[in-house]
Amino acid sequence: MDLKKNLKDHKISLKRSLGQNFLLNKNISSKILNYCALTNNDTVIEIGVGAGILTELLLRRARKVIAYEIDKSLDPLISPLKKYENLQLLFQDFLKADLSHLQVDGDLYFVANVPYYITSPIIEKIMFDSPPFKEALLMVQKEYADRLLAKPGTKTYGALTVSISAFSKVTKLFDVSKKNFVPVPGVDSSVIKLEPLTSPKISYEEKSQFRAFVRSSFAQRRKKLKNNLKRLIRDVEEFLKDAGLSENIRAEELSTDTFIDLYHMMKRW
Ligand code: SAM
Repeated sequence: MDLKKNLKDHKISLKRSLGQNFLLNKNISSKILNYCALTNNDTVIEIGVGAGILTELLLRRARKVIAYEIDKSLDPLISPLKKYENLQLLFQDFLKADLSHLQVDGDLYFVANVPYYITSPIIEKIMFDSPPFKEALLMVQKEYADRLLAKPGTKTYGALTVSISAFSKVTKLFDVSKKNFVPVPGVDSSVIKLEPLTSPKISYEEKSQFRAFVRSSFAQRRKKLKNNLKRLIRDVEEFLKDAGLSENIRAEELSTDTFIDLYHMMKRW
């Protein structure tokens, strides 16, 4: 399918406000799937169907494809896919979707070339508000992937890095040049894979509390940890000393495992 011609024939102009930068190069969609363990016994959720090029590859591979698209005006582009019986197409805002009622056959996967304006809410919904899943393969802005993979002590390391890595393994698969999209966006992209840890050190029930603790720790990056935490933890200097940490330490110097230890210690304090 010639995407540009198809858009023109249907008089569809893409909306920047909805993150509509479509992937022109089908080989990249195929490459994403080469890294995915999805089989024909499984269910995959796609966020943002667009012109449906990635969706069609998913339909050929999975038992069931649950595909969300917020923009009903893209229907003429997506319509040819309705011949596939394993497609459940939902013209709906993914962020408002109730995933708990979905009928999942086999294992659950997520695959998406995400609309970048809502990357964090999408990742948080997948990670913390979805049925258990095997893998999420996501195309994100390159800088965003770098933040997820940042090491302690670096500028991009922050609350996002810690909260995601406490619950999942994050791998960067490959970079994708902005030239492969229409319209050409201002940024390059990376494809990442998230795999939930089988036994995270923070229980499912405590995930919100842990994330709030991490966010407070980074609340003001330039401040020392003790200042960010003094409203949350009484005798915070004593607390840090007990944890074997300097009272001058900053959140960005601590690894995810140290945050997990501090969180458990705080509950007993
Ligand atoms: N999958 C296509 C591709 O690879 O070319 C399109 C990707 S494009 C980056 C993101 C898509 O997400 C757009 O089609 C956009 O309309 C859709 N979208 C934006 N916000 C959404 C939301 N809240 N829920 C569902 N889809 C959304």
